[in-house]
Amino acid sequence: MTSTSPVFSALAPLGWDEAWAGAFDSYAAAGLLPGRVVRVDRGQCDVVTADGTVRADTEFVVPRDPMKVVCTGDWVAVDPDGDPRYVRAYLPRRTAFVRSTSSKRSEGQVLAANVDHAVLVVSLAAELDLGRVERFLALAWESGAQPVVVLGKADLVPDPVTLAHLVHDVETSAPGVPVLGVSALHGDGLDALLARVGSGTSVLLGQSGAGKSTLANALLGEDVMDVRAARDVDGKGRHTTTTRNLLVLPSGGVLIDTPGLRGVGLFDAASGVGQVFSEIEDLAGRCRFHDCAHEAEPGCAVRSAVDGGELPARRLESYRKLMRENQWIVAKTDARVRAERGRHWRRKETEGRAARELKRARYQ
Ligand code: GDP
Ligand code: ZN
Repeated sequence: MTSTSPVFSALAPLGWDEAWAGAFDSYAAAGLLPGRVVRVDRGQCDVVTADGTVRADTEFVVPRDPMKVVCTGDWVAVDPDGDPRYVRAYLPRRTAFVRSTSSKRSEGQVLAANVDHAVLVVSLAAELDLGRVERFLALAWESGAQPVVVLGKADLVPDPVTLAHLVHDVETSAPGVPVLGVSALHGDGLDALLARVGSGTSVLLGQSGAGKSTLANALLGEDVMDVRAARDVDGKGRHTTTTRNLLVLPSGGVLIDTPGLRGVGLFDAASGVGQVFSEIEDLAGRCRFHDCAHEAEPGCAVRSAVDGGELPARRLESYRKLMRENQWIVAKTDARVRAERGRHWRRKETEGRAARELKRARYQ
């Protein structure tokens, strides 16, 4: 496939290049179509090919190895005919975002593939937490992507000298990482960011509330509505209305936003909750039930410490809140935990999902 072929020009906006084309040669010879995975769900995926978006089965891929499951961002070889179609292979990944395995809960799950820029969004509305920035950056470097730090909501720091100091502070704890002050609200610094993400594939990382959605909207610009309105037709003339987790930016470049990635930072950060609240974890070890929720269970050492005045109730509340957040994030991406979870969580999940979809729908 040459760079002047129609397939090449159709896929180039998605990040297709000479090297990908070269890696695809043997598949092309076998009559397979190249495409990029824009969404994965339940053993199927949506693949954008030169002929439009097709829905394909991913089942064939080596089972029981979560690292070998096709994920958003993969370049794949799709069966052109067949019903269902199949993803026959994915091209060797240049980079991969793998969910942290440090929690022992995960065997390592690929959240996004072939990401070039990992944009860490840090809100200037709160005090800078350099430790957290470092943790996110470790995650980004690990993936193989080039990290970029966006000090977002820069409009909240109107004094340029103060902003420069903040940028400098982050730069000194993030060698080799560009740091940009950006206001998604006012557009300041957006051009510098667009220049960085204008080629290649990017993801936005950062805590909930950091401003990722707002920034994604700003990057996607007015075309976001077009993206949402676009109804893809697969090869069989069916309309698929599923949302994409991979979007082409109007000024060039590709943005990947998957629910798993959204949670990865919090997941990672929250894995330290136990250490921060070590005295509660110690007490919990003495509860009668190993899965005690410290609500109304008999023999709860945590509640009795609160009743006895040894543990401030506020601290228990704070711990609960973080644990809930952590469990929520884990549950979103971990089927095993999901299976173990009871009715209680299922109800909360439904509520949370509705809120999340509402939010995501704003720019998909
Ligand atoms: P996410 O959870 O990381 O996706 O964060 P959101 O994009 O939902 O933003 C969280 C809050 O920060 C919202 O209330 C936004 O209006 C606000 N916000 C986002 N970007 C900016 C910005 O550039 N300036 C200011 N002042 N607020 C912002
Ligand atoms: Zn207890």
